[in-house]
Amino acid sequence: TWCFFHPSMDEQARRRLDLANSLRTALQRDEFHLVYQPQVYADSGRVFGAEALLRWQPTGEGLVSPAEFIPVAEEIGLILPLGEWVIQQACDQARRWQDAGLNCRVAVNVSGVQIYRSDVVAALQRAAQHAGISPALIQLELTESTLIDDSILIQDVIGGLKAIGASVAIDDFGTGYSSLAYLKRFKVDKLKIDRSFIADAATNEEGAAMSRAVISIARSLNMRAIAEGVETADQLAFLLGAGCNEIQGYYFSKPLLPDAFADFAQRHR
Ligand code: C2E
Ligand code: MG
Ligand code: MG
Repeated sequence: TWCFFHPSMDEQARRRLDLANSLRTALQRDEFHLVYQPQVYADSGRVFGAEALLRWQPTGEGLVSPAEFIPVAEEIGLILPLGEWVIQQACDQARRWQDAGLNCRVAVNVSGVQIYRSDVVAALQRAAQHAGISPALIQLELTESTLIDDSILIQDVIGGLKAIGASVAIDDFGTGYSSLAYLKRFKVDKLKIDRSFIADAATNEEGAAMSRAVISIARSLNMRAIAEGVETADQLAFLLGAGCNEIQGYYFSKPLLPDAFADFAQRHR
């Protein structure tokens, strides 16, 4: 057997270890915050909600991408307290917007680790109660890969979320390996067409076909379809023509701090 070693492998491992170490104290140090990306109706451009996206800025350093730190947070178990913190923040924010006269639903990303190792239904119920809002203002986004493992547990979790009035979207739909049967069984509310399909939709027939297929699955099962990562007018035109209900992406707005989101929502109500 041959093994190759390159110094960059050592650097990578070290970076991950450093990341894990600084992540462990990041919550106490108050280094996380949420930004909110507007979600709009495809036909009118009216804002109806926001996706809460987690940001980590270690003290004295630049932002670290969630794509980099979420997997580490999952590995070291930090995602459990961190995920609860995100749910609480999102509920508190929904309450502040409600008090300011903005009725916006907030979509919150939930890791599979939270589903399997904590009680997200109870966490959401607690957070909503603490904030004084209805859980109906919150939509949880689960990724497709979360759904294929253990259908009984998932069915209970989704059932529990719906029972308290919250709604459920499947994130990055079309990229996981999935049996379509779960869609009907789990009674999800919304499919989020993965960004990679949208990137291709206006220019290439395969991307367009994938997007159309997801929209038509959503429509025939009475779910809504939202496109994420919409960046151009051409993509928007394609999605409108294909019957997509909702849009999220840089074409309308990047993720915003709460006040900037409120301004944006006021201008697009
Ligand atoms: P996601 O949930 O699929 O979120 C969409 C990502 O696409 C976000 O990246 C968003 O900023 C980016 N995006 C939105 N519109 C556009 C666009 O028009 N063009 C391009 N190129 N990108 C766009 P972000 O914020 O870096 O988050 C990456 C991923 O990290 C998320 O993907 C989600 O899986 C995860 N994540 C973020 N916040 C949380 C969280 O609170 N909890 C958990 N468990 N995961 C989170
Ligand atoms: Mg998401
Ligand atoms: Mg996504």
